[in-house]
Amino acid sequence: PHVADLIAAGEVVERPASVVKELMENAIDAAAATVTVEVQHGGMTLIRVTDDGCGIAAGEAETAFLRHATSKIRSEYDLEAIGTLGFRGEALAAISAVSRVELLTRAQGAQLGIALSLEGGAVVARDEAGCPQGTTMVVRDLFYNTPARLKFMKKDAAEGAACFAMVQRVALSHPEVSVKFLRDGKQELRTPGDGKLQSALYAVLGRDLALGFVPVGGSGEEMTVAGFTSLPTCCRGTRGYQHFFVNGRYVKSRTMTAAVEEAYANQKMVGKFPGCVLHLNTRLNAVDVNVHPTKQEVKFGSEKRVFDAVYYAVKSALEADRT
Ligand code: ADP
Ligand code: MG
Repeated sequence: PHVADLIAAGEVVERPASVVKELMENAIDAAAATVTVEVQHGGMTLIRVTDDGCGIAAGEAETAFLRHATSKIRSEYDLEAIGTLGFRGEALAAISAVSRVELLTRAQGAQLGIALSLEGGAVVARDEAGCPQGTTMVVRDLFYNTPARLKFMKKDAAEGAACFAMVQRVALSHPEVSVKFLRDGKQELRTPGDGKLQSALYAVLGRDLALGFVPVGGSGEEMTVAGFTSLPTCCRGTRGYQHFFVNGRYVKSRTMTAAVEEAYANQKMVGKFPGCVLHLNTRLNAVDVNVHPTKQEVKFGSEKRVFDAVYYAVKSALEADRT
């Protein structure tokens, strides 16, 4: 691959979990009802993501791997209000530059599907293939051609755990999608995909932990907040149980973190940090998602409105629980 491609890939693909995130996001953007993620050796030797979404037309298969090729936005105006998880057209180019990829896909309405193999970003095989509608992406030998990056990978167990955490987050971000996760052949998660956040939360946390959460609902100026937050008696020693989503996208947000923690400030907590799964929904153009290559950081038009909406929603959930 070209040096520029490798440099770009380094930003988007940090580790196996980044691949899992991008491939799952593509499946969701393709309107999949079920997404299955399989990893072997922490995702270092194999990551397979299978969806039953719209598929990729045979004539578009190669294009999908080109840098900046996206079917999701067409103009600068689309960039103002991004409604899909992907929009940069970078993920497949980046992933394929640093691995061996096999794509098997059949588009809605097409008789035949297509199988494509790439190595280091170059197409090495292309065949027609009979397959169900939807897309399977197999990513093998991640970073096989970038030894410097390979050296930074942790033990398989740690990379596998990071993949699992990513799958859990995506499952919580889209409860209408049934998400399955298998690690080294063993199923570790299956969400029902019934559209209820509570069902996804139960599947992810397990019944006992989930019972320590209370529902949150509220609205602020031009936004709504919904989800679950932990009882003060069920707080934790880390922020690992805090999950924030903005318009269906997992984000890291200091504002939202601060708002939640402020709402707990006068509570008698057992651990230091509350756990929460909070969905903030707002007008698409009230948030800029195009601020970081991994799309996990966002800029709000008004951080204060977000803070207030989250703070009051969580505060009243805690108060309601005490009465
Ligand atoms: P982006 O998601 O930003 O558009 P990607 O590199 O992730 O860029 O994907 C490139 C294109 O490939 C997408 O715009 C989409 O048209 C197509 N694509 C990728 N994955 C899938 C999938 N699972 N189902 C259908 N189309 C897909
Ligand atoms: Mg994408």
